[in-house]
Amino acid sequence: MANDLPKIMNYINGELVPPNSKKYIDNIEPATGNTYSLIPDSDVIDVKNAIKSAEKAFKKWSNVSIEKRAEYLETISLKLLEKLEYLSKIESKDNGKPLKLAKSVDIPRAGKNFNFFASAIKHFHSESHEMVDQNNLNFTLKQPLGVVGAISPWNLPLYLFTWKIAPALAAGNTVVAKPSEITPMSAFELAKICIEVGLPKGVLNIVHGRGNIVGENIVNNDAVKAITFTGGTITGKRIAEIAAPKFKKLSLELGGKNPNIIFDDCDFDKMIQTTIKSSFANQGQICLCGSRIYVHENIYEKFKSKFIEETSKLNIGDPNLEDNDLGAIVSKEHLEKISSYINLAKNEGGTILFGGNKPKIEGRCKNGYFMSPTIIEGLGIDCRTNQEEIFGPVVTLQKFSTEEEALELANGTNYGLSATLWTQDISRVHRMVKEIQAGVIWVNAWMVRDLRTPFGGMKDSGVGREGGFEVLEFFTEKKNVSISY
Ligand code: NAD
Repeated sequence: MANDLPKIMNYINGELVPPNSKKYIDNIEPATGNTYSLIPDSDVIDVKNAIKSAEKAFKKWSNVSIEKRAEYLETISLKLLEKLEYLSKIESKDNGKPLKLAKSVDIPRAGKNFNFFASAIKHFHSESHEMVDQNNLNFTLKQPLGVVGAISPWNLPLYLFTWKIAPALAAGNTVVAKPSEITPMSAFELAKICIEVGLPKGVLNIVHGRGNIVGENIVNNDAVKAITFTGGTITGKRIAEIAAPKFKKLSLELGGKNPNIIFDDCDFDKMIQTTIKSSFANQGQICLCGSRIYVHENIYEKFKSKFIEETSKLNIGDPNLEDNDLGAIVSKEHLEKISSYINLAKNEGGTILFGGNKPKIEGRCKNGYFMSPTIIEGLGIDCRTNQEEIFGPVVTLQKFSTEEEALELANGTNYGLSATLWTQDISRVHRMVKEIQAGVIWVNAWMVRDLRTPFGGMKDSGVGREGGFEVLEFFTEKKNVSISY
């Protein structure tokens, strides 16, 4: 039976190839629990082949004109958007996210990533510093690094995979990329698109498989000059342990436990509608979701009842159905992890105000992995529920009375990825954004993204910034050339 299932293939040296081991991992549709395709269980040989092919392609690719490189990226972008319907279905099936979300966010953004960096590279520039008194000119030469490794997670599969690949290629690097083994399908489709548009062989290589094998072998290989990684903080630490002694450039985009700070002077209706999204979009499996909600005491009770009321209106079930707001959790293991955190919250003295259970879904999705949106009250900042990343549709509520208290709560974890602040008081905004320990802060909004802006986290949420010119700086080596005349 398993042999009849479609097999995903690696993309190495411009070709789709099976893994060296000839072994495969089951790929499960989270909404049904059915195995529906097979993922290459690649090993060190596949990784070495991919790196060799990227090394071979580097000299030529790094000397392709910027216009031509941009043209390739634009063509890939157009192909992704041409296949929007098809790719959205693939992404939704593989991840469990609502089809309408894949169609409106994931795939359009994957297309935009290629389109954006096709344009950004044309505007990327270097500096010169003249020393007029000494007849000397310094100029900064920015050159691609060589072969770079890109490793990405399952929550926004093609969105984050392309967010790394597009700037790396634009800057003239060749890439060995590894998508999450939990959601490999859209990366396989990207490989097919690269073949379709005639991307020169070896410029992009995609190796599927397990993190501790494929991922670690990419990080470990001396020919790989930089690693861009998005995923969990523990994995990020492991990658840093391997890469740091080798002095590789590292960009680490890690986990979060983001605070959502709500003052009594906010636009209440807009705040409620946005907070529903920032809590439960993609089943709460977005690194930027706000999982700790702090509400000023003057509006705490009003917030609580309205938030519960609006949460109760969310539909959960088959991701293919337009009416459903929440789809399936990405895997059985992750569902169990979320469930265990809800039990922990109860043990820690929390009260479940809403949800907290695995809902019963009828029909096609009866064996799928579903979790109700869950609201918890009564827990302090020090408990594990409020300290550890759950990465599911689970939020905690807590009241505060002063700005100082709100800041203390917001900054009270080891994470520092994003924060959301709701207030109309502009002076308070300026005071607070200076103090909030997060790399991305939204005021009266959530998930508004301008791709030119620096993106990344503080503390345990990561090192480095991606986006805009920041990531093009990351993917280039700078040499200062000092010329006397
Ligand atoms: P993960 O760390 O388990 O896996 C991420 C990727 O790393 C996968 O491709 C995996 O195969 C690979 N990997 C695993 N072990 C490895 C190792 N030892 N060496 C090299 N690679 C290895 O994360 P996940 O469960 O896929 O994703 C969820 C996490 O990602 C959450 O913590 C979430 O907050 C985080 N995330 C962060 C951002 C951000 O921008 N900061 C964005 C999305 C997700």
